[in-house]
Amino acid sequence: MTTTRFAPSPTGYIHVGNLRTALMNFLIAKKAGGTFILRIDDTDPERSKQEYVDAIQEDLEWLGITWDRMERQSERLERYEQAAEELREKARFYECFETPTELDLKRKKQLNMGKPPVYDRAALDLSEAEKEALRAERGNGHWRFKLIQERIEWTDGILGDLSIDAASVSDPVLIRGDGQFLYTLASVCDDVDFGVTHVVRGSDHVTNTATQIQIIEALGGAVPEFAHHSLLTGPQGEALSKRLGTLSLRDLRAAGVEPMALVSLMARLGSSDPVELRENMDEVADGFDIGHFGSAPTKFDEQDLYPLTARILHEQPFAAMAADVKAAGVPDDLAEQFWEVTRENIVTRKDLATWWDLFANGAEPEIDEEDRAFIAEAMALLPEGPFDGETWGTWTKAVKEATGRKGRGLFMPLRKALTGQSNGPDMSAVMPLLQVVKARG
Ligand code: GLU
Repeated sequence: MTTTRFAPSPTGYIHVGNLRTALMNFLIAKKAGGTFILRIDDTDPERSKQEYVDAIQEDLEWLGITWDRMERQSERLERYEQAAEELREKARFYECFETPTELDLKRKKQLNMGKPPVYDRAALDLSEAEKEALRAERGNGHWRFKLIQERIEWTDGILGDLSIDAASVSDPVLIRGDGQFLYTLASVCDDVDFGVTHVVRGSDHVTNTATQIQIIEALGGAVPEFAHHSLLTGPQGEALSKRLGTLSLRDLRAAGVEPMALVSLMARLGSSDPVELRENMDEVADGFDIGHFGSAPTKFDEQDLYPLTARILHEQPFAAMAADVKAAGVPDDLAEQFWEVTRENIVTRKDLATWWDLFANGAEPEIDEEDRAFIAEAMALLPEGPFDGETWGTWTKAVKEATGRKGRGLFMPLRKALTGQSNGPDMSAVMPLLQVVKARG
């Protein structure tokens, strides 16, 4: 039985980087007919916020990513305490009292001596009496997991055969001095207890995986399959980490990106499969294979989402857009006609309101100096409204005869004068929708 999980910390909104992780785990479970767990990593009570828990669910639902089960780490603290006790009994857990400043000093010394900055395990030599004295002086210590110093190996679903020398890694801290369980212990307990079979996450977790494998083994759990996807960069290969804050799913939604545009792109980007627009999650899951993803950083360009969004919208029948057309302010009797006229010219749903505003309230066109007299003359020939499907043809014919202009020089300034735009729908179809004409030249 395949079980996967997506495990965000509710300390902010989820962004495109998180989405990639969520999608990969979701699609593995979906394809296998397994279970997908949404796990909220909220062991940090200060930084975790309920508003972000709500927002994460809302964002995933918007995309059509549904979960079979939801868990919160803050509700499982007793279980983590029990795991900590088990590690103590097995002599794989030890209390340390160094302050952050002392640890920093140790690291600097090691680096100066050309050594890797790995924790020196000084606390292992403390006697019970020394620990008592330190506890009295500094309060409770933090707890480190004692790694077995051997090579830790696994076959990664994306990166292939990996091996990390445990001696090159510091014994991980699993409980802080103030008693807070850190993500590593909580995550390992959850993966074991919930029967997680596949863990896909960013390549920034590779070292964590090595230590987690040893903790899982120490707790007698089954080690899941791990896969680490590459991190996203900007279009030029620049680091995206600082910009991720502006690439939250809610910002993209507010910008008008369609959910299936985002899903279609993110489920294939960085793989050997082409990005193709999919209509629903079943189709996305069909061709998905984690083994097709590469280890190189994945370039993400937000702008790629817009042509996909436009294509989705262009294919919508009126019935699917009626509510949006109404919300844009279009009266019912013009709604379907408006949709047919503008559909090929919108990129996002937000553009509906922009077009309707032009038609309803008139454009404020910038008329080139050399066209002013021409536009004034043309406007004098414009018949009284309401316009119909013939108006554009008869009007431009009359303007042509009066001014001698033809082709682009005739049509383009007129289009601009009426709509303020150089491009747009067929003007014969636009005319009947124009409620106000402002241009005078
Ligand atoms: N809460 C962790 C994170 O967001 C989860 C990592 C994992 O998938 O284990 O980085």
